[in-house]
Amino acid sequence: MVQPLPHVREIPPYVPGRPPEARPGLTTYKLSSNENPYPPLPGVLGTATQAAEAMNRYPDMGCTALYDALSTKLDVSTDRLAAATGSVALIYHLLAAYCGPGDEVVHAWRSFEAYPIAITAAGATGVQVPVTADGRHDLAAMAAAVTERTRVVLLCTPNNPTGPALSHAETAGFVAGVRDDVLVVVDEAYLEFVRMADPVDGLALLRDHPNVVLLRTFSKAYGLAGLRVGYAVAAADVASALRAVALPFGVSSIAQAAAVASLAHEVELLARVDALVGERDRLVAGITAAGWTVPEPQGNFVWFDLGDAAADFAARAADAGLAVRPFAGEGVRVSVGEPEATDRLVEMLEKEPPPA
Ligand SMILES: *Cc1c(COP(=O)(O)O)cnc(C)c1O
Repeated sequence: MVQPLPHVREIPPYVPGRPPEARPGLTTYKLSSNENPYPPLPGVLGTATQAAEAMNRYPDMGCTALYDALSTKLDVSTDRLAAATGSVALIYHLLAAYCGPGDEVVHAWRSFEAYPIAITAAGATGVQVPVTADGRHDLAAMAAAVTERTRVVLLCTPNNPTGPALSHAETAGFVAGVRDDVLVVVDEAYLEFVRMADPVDGLALLRDHPNVVLLRTFSKAYGLAGLRVGYAVAAADVASALRAVALPFGVSSIAQAAAVASLAHEVELLARVDALVGERDRLVAGITAAGWTVPEPQGNFVWFDLGDAAADFAARAADAGLAVRPFAGEGVRVSVGEPEATDRLVEMLEKEPPPA
């Protein structure tokens, strides 16, 4: 029998957030994948539907309209952009372009579950640095974990699944202390949800440090998770490498059109993000009033650090009609969704004692 390369067998499985189980008489809510609960804006859906009429044609491989729109929005030249099928794909592309066997990739843990998958798939070695008790990156420990073999550091801000975001000052300090032949990826999937003093200004970091790579996505704030489109902002040579290793014609015409239309409808979409942030605040207030605590959420999700009680908590949430995302033995991530879902979760918390 032909065998895959040994590291392929080591790739951990991706556990997707499950859809809710039906509960008779109960409206159910999917809070397990950090999706945007709002349906597409009619203008975006109309543009995407129109693009579908050309599905017999390959998409624009150069993503011209999308790069032009992003270039205007971000005030960076188009040669510093690389689009792909979600920002997850850009992580794969980056590792394919810059890492091989024996190379190390430093990242926080628990963090985004795609990291160890992509690192292992690239044949590289992941170096996991535990987050602090309040779910934050331990940047001092991450800096200390960088060795001669390190090619990439992944920073996830806000951190999925624990919630807190890095400040600009601490991130800039970290980048300044890392060798300039190490790529520092700033995964900003939840950028638009951040409401804190001194938030990371990724473009400013990139101006000062060409080894910084910003990863952004249309999946969360812009509500296009099902269409698969994200992008990197980087130095031109890094963006060029990311485009070189990408699968040809990856980002569909529908996704490109919907992304461009979303940028044109940004005011309405960001108003929805504001509403979700308001819902996040309401959820945190309810959690606190019920006597529970969560790390400071800066994305569209909250984290319950529950250890072995994670599976039970998720089962009780399912009984309340809420699909959440348990991480066995660690905790439960709950996305911010519909107001009724917030109320349901808070009611559930009010009925049970918080973990000691
Ligand atoms: C959701 C998410 C992404 C983006 O996913 P795509 O849908 O592939 O764009 C990237 N990083 C983190 C940390 C995420 O949570």
